[in-house]
Amino acid sequence: MSFQSIWNATAPAGPALPFLTGSHKADVVVIGAGFQGLSTALHLAEKGTDVVVLEAQTPGAGASGRNGGQVIPGLKDDPDWLDRHWGPQATAFAGSTADTLFDLIDRLGLECEADRSGWIQAGNKAVHMKKLEHRMAQWQARGASVSWLDAAAMAQATGTLAFKGGWIDRRAGKVHPLKLVQGLTAATKNAGAKIFGHSAVVGLDRSAGSWTVRVAGGGTVACDQVVLASNMYTASELRKEVARATVSVHSFQVATQPLDPDRLARILPGGVVVSEVRRVGTYFRIGPQARLMIGGRGSFSDPRHPSDFGRIEKELTALFGPGLEVAYRWFGRVGITPDHRIRLCKPEPGLILATGFNGRGVALSVALGKAIADHLAHDLPMPVPMINAVPTLPFHRLHAVAGTIGVNWYRLRDYLDR
Ligand SMILES: Cc1cc2nc3c(=O)[nH]c(=O)nc-3n(C[C@H](O)[C@H](O)[C@H](O)COP(=O)(O)OP(=O)(O)OC[C@H]3O[C@@H](n4cnc5c(N)ncnc54)[C@H](O)[C@@H]3O)c2cc1C
Repeated sequence: MSFQSIWNATAPAGPALPFLTGSHKADVVVIGAGFQGLSTALHLAEKGTDVVVLEAQTPGAGASGRNGGQVIPGLKDDPDWLDRHWGPQATAFAGSTADTLFDLIDRLGLECEADRSGWIQAGNKAVHMKKLEHRMAQWQARGASVSWLDAAAMAQATGTLAFKGGWIDRRAGKVHPLKLVQGLTAATKNAGAKIFGHSAVVGLDRSAGSWTVRVAGGGTVACDQVVLASNMYTASELRKEVARATVSVHSFQVATQPLDPDRLARILPGGVVVSEVRRVGTYFRIGPQARLMIGGRGSFSDPRHPSDFGRIEKELTALFGPGLEVAYRWFGRVGITPDHRIRLCKPEPGLILATGFNGRGVALSVALGKAIADHLAHDLPMPVPMINAVPTLPFHRLHAVAGTIGVNWYRLRDYLDR
């Protein structure tokens, strides 16, 4: 059974893209047309670099076209940790990722239902309050527009009594992710990059200081530099170490029928988006056509039947009460690293890749794509550490088993938290 996302149902069809045939040359080849690849290619093309983008399916076919559209600044680590371990440039970068995305949307006039009403990180246990207050205080000390919401303010802002408190980050907001992908695709083409669809890269060969990138069907591009932006969707046959750098977990999402006026006035009336701070929590927002959307951790195998979404639908009812009929169900893959930090790597000369965005990649992938372009075009330093070898996870083949045990262990700890 195939599942259609609310994004696919509400976005126009993307532009038809050619399939790569024959032999080509470019300065840079970008593999993957998600946010990261498109942002890298766009910013490079705007600087006059000759760029080719190769996408296995259609732009946005990976995580970028199917996520929750929550634009959340930051890396998973808090600013004090970033200052101490990666330096203040990493903290500044983390704090500015949402600005980078919203500024780009404004500059290019991208039609993607962008809205900057903020993001709430919510907790339902006393133990969460300390953690969230500490995080908020660190951003507040750096001048970010953030503030605390007590239980009453939280109930008012979210429309549920489930939370004891949390913080709101007004740098954040939301987009229609597939429309954003389509806008970026058009802007990247307009800037001069060549984008090929249904052109899966099957080989990367390096000789005499340059790369030959081969796609299924035989087309090739010779180039000096490759940016591997296929992230979580990288096949093991293409780069084994990238496929083994993260645990691939499914994030399941559902969208309801359009809310009735009473519910629409009560649920998220200010337009904020919300994520829970629980280890295995949900994230929710109002989506297109006034539909309530909620997502969270799914099974490790692909869903086959609507009932496979039962757990997330129970969460929907627990938060907002019975009677919300689900109209759309879909899912995507999120790459989790054990320390929740991203991996930015240069495993060989002329090859850069980034993965492990830990489900927080909408703003990050666009901002990182811009940073990669600045690095390649102007030799600017990367804002986060770039290491050589891609760190792989031991016993990766067992990740589904280990991951299932891990998620259940986290669920138990969430339950036991006070
Ligand atoms: C269900 C879900 C919900 C999420 N919700 C949020 C959220 O609300 N907020 C947030 O910040 N983050 C969220 N994320 C994470 C976020 O979507 C990702 O971190 C981000 O989109 C990653 O972008 P990317 O361009 O690096 O990768 P992708 O968008 O995955 O792009 C990779 C592209 O590479 C292509 N590709 C793969 N192999 C090849 C090949 N061999 N040749 C050519 N092309 C290839 C794929 O088809 C794909 O288009 C969510 C993720 C999922 C799955």
